[in-house]
Amino acid sequence: MVIVSNLGYPRLGENREWKKLIESYWNGDISQEDLLVQAKALRKAFLIKQEELGVDLIPVGDFSLYDHILDLSFQFNIIPERFAEEDYDLDLYFALARGNKDHVASAMKKWFNTNYHYLLPEWTKEKPRLSHNRLLELYLEARDLIGDKAKPVITGPITYVALSSGVRDHTAAIKSLLPLYKQIIQELVDAGASYIQVDEPIFVTDEGHDYLEAAKKVYAYFAKEVPGAKLIFQTYFEGLVDAKVLSNLPVAAFGLDFVHGLEDNVAALEAGYFADKVVFAGIVNGRNVWGTDLRDSQQLLAKIQEHVKEVVIQPSCSLLHVPVTTQNETGLEPVLREGLAFADEKLQELRILADQSGLVEPSPSFSQKVAAFEALQAADFRHVVLEDLNSVAKERQLPFQDRYALQQEKLNLPILPTTTIGSFPQSAEVRRTRLAWKRQQISDQEYEDFIKSEIARWIKIQEDLDIDVLVHGEFERVDMVEFFGQKLAGFATTASGWVQSYGSRAVKPPIIYGDVQHIQPLTVNETVYAQSLTDRPVKGMLTGPITITNWSFERTDIPRQDLFNQIALAIKDEIKLLEDAGIPIIQVDEAALREGLPLRKANQKAYLDDSVVAFRLATSSVKDSTQIHTHMCYSNFAEIIDSIRDLDADVISIETSRSQGDIIEAFETATYPLGIGLGVYDIHSPRVPTLDEVVANIERPLKQLSIEQFWVNPDCGLKTRRKPETIAALEILVQATKKVRKRFGN
Ligand code: GLN
Ligand code: ZN
Repeated sequence: MVIVSNLGYPRLGENREWKKLIESYWNGDISQEDLLVQAKALRKAFLIKQEELGVDLIPVGDFSLYDHILDLSFQFNIIPERFAEEDYDLDLYFALARGNKDHVASAMKKWFNTNYHYLLPEWTKEKPRLSHNRLLELYLEARDLIGDKAKPVITGPITYVALSSGVRDHTAAIKSLLPLYKQIIQELVDAGASYIQVDEPIFVTDEGHDYLEAAKKVYAYFAKEVPGAKLIFQTYFEGLVDAKVLSNLPVAAFGLDFVHGLEDNVAALEAGYFADKVVFAGIVNGRNVWGTDLRDSQQLLAKIQEHVKEVVIQPSCSLLHVPVTTQNETGLEPVLREGLAFADEKLQELRILADQSGLVEPSPSFSQKVAAFEALQAADFRHVVLEDLNSVAKERQLPFQDRYALQQEKLNLPILPTTTIGSFPQSAEVRRTRLAWKRQQISDQEYEDFIKSEIARWIKIQEDLDIDVLVHGEFERVDMVEFFGQKLAGFATTASGWVQSYGSRAVKPPIIYGDVQHIQPLTVNETVYAQSLTDRPVKGMLTGPITITNWSFERTDIPRQDLFNQIALAIKDEIKLLEDAGIPIIQVDEAALREGLPLRKANQKAYLDDSVVAFRLATSSVKDSTQIHTHMCYSNFAEIIDSIRDLDADVISIETSRSQGDIIEAFETATYPLGIGLGVYDIHSPRVPTLDEVVANIERPLKQLSIEQFWVNPDCGLKTRRKPETIAALEILVQATKKVRKRFGN
């Protein structure tokens, strides 16, 4: 008999109940008690659902009120110094995540190569101590409901420390956490827990090599101190960095990813490292939305079984990264819908596979899944003839210096030009009106007029603020990727395919299911309208091919590079339309370029090279006097700075204010010759920056970068902010810029 396990279940809920719940608490609509009661109800519903789907080992502790890493920091009292005076309560927990009126929030970072963001643990001088055993509370709650099926889940000490900031001595930090983990685990064991999943995904990254000695010590410590614990050393997103060493850890089981780490992990099995081990095998892709070819999985399972003592099957990683269920997707073509699998369907697939293991003939549900898989592969939308790449320009005509001079002259900009990243607050009215339009309560014309009035309002606001390069504000978009998905051929938009991005923020990635083509103007109307209202340059706003791919659920039946290029050609067509309509600056956002970087060095170059080719296919066909901007989110640019330069965008804006230091360093060591705006304030928090802060943020990089190349902008789009704080912050931004310009004699 094969057992089915799960690593983590989406928090959001089928209809984003979780998001609504948390936000209603933040907005003061419900009390803290209501929040906790309703969160508990959700948690229970998730457990029951998984039980009904036939999962034998159900994760507990994956649920969170914001982020699972923040949960750990909070219970370990790893709380930044600046919050030291605050009471230790739920509001402090949320303040760490979102900032409060006195203090900035902790930084967010991408969870490995996903679009999930965790709150960066900030270590200060104080020693960690356990304030409460959160996991025990959750386990007890789950045990009452699902008994033995409850499997506690916790991020392991090594990964936790490796992902932290402010740690001087990693070994000492890990050591300081061990007694805390020991207590948590011991109390779980005492309460009856069997398997306990300890997530250590750091051991699939190159950095994992540095922690091999720590792994030996830590897991030997647990084996000795809590001998009754059945720990699963859980990894995902790639194969183990050193299976030989890690397979010797004294744990009860190993969780391995046989989707993203297929080659390495199979090689490790074949080398015999797991011959006498229990392996939790991730054989259904936890990151994509496609139905699995169960025949392949069956073969894979058989192969794994040959090489291990016992196997449990599960998704390749937590299902946090996929939407809940395809059941509500009644708007999709049947052949597509049947070919999809979200969290619930993935668990079903695992159940079907497990049940199949004792049978000779395929069960009806097995056959049905296979038929759906085959029908999708054969569909004609996957077999379109596309434009030839050879006839498309891959570089600009003039080198940067020459064309930049042309552009700045045409645009007539001051030094330190000010601009924003594209979106302005999507007020309740914007959202309400869009909903009314979607429900056909107002006509297309009424909706269009409304969007125009919003554009006009914000063009005026930007002029009044004295910003130099204006944007139309993106009011017509819910999401920078979904919007393009709705208008390009080859994409499908789901009704409720939401996934958590950070905190209560969810995104609804479109699904790229067929060949991508530009079949209608995407942004021309709104952009041209905005430009008609002002003499200042308006910047067109598009999303780039890599970001569209990374933030979509992509098809996996063609090489990724082909997909990048298909999208690049579609964006090129749109850029041409904007340029022909007189738009002087076009921004092609590559917000997600960095996060898509493969975890292992060995795979990074190919990805970056493909990205550069696609970006240049999209942007190189313009006139030299047309200025191409790009924008990227988050830090850690050091390792990809060469590729960023190779994109050859005239101006890049980068999100930096939560990690100024790192980024400047990257630009210091590799001189960056092109136009650049380093975000001068953090848009993720409602807090309005002070003049001095912004002046400092403008001046600091000017030590390394020339004033001619520097732009001033907030650090990302302003969509999620409210209007008053947005205007207040932009006022400061412009004021600060003017102050610095004066110092430079302008
Ligand atoms: N242009 C987009 C916006 O302003 C960019 C968002 C992003 O980088 N995530 O919303
Ligand atoms: Zn951004």
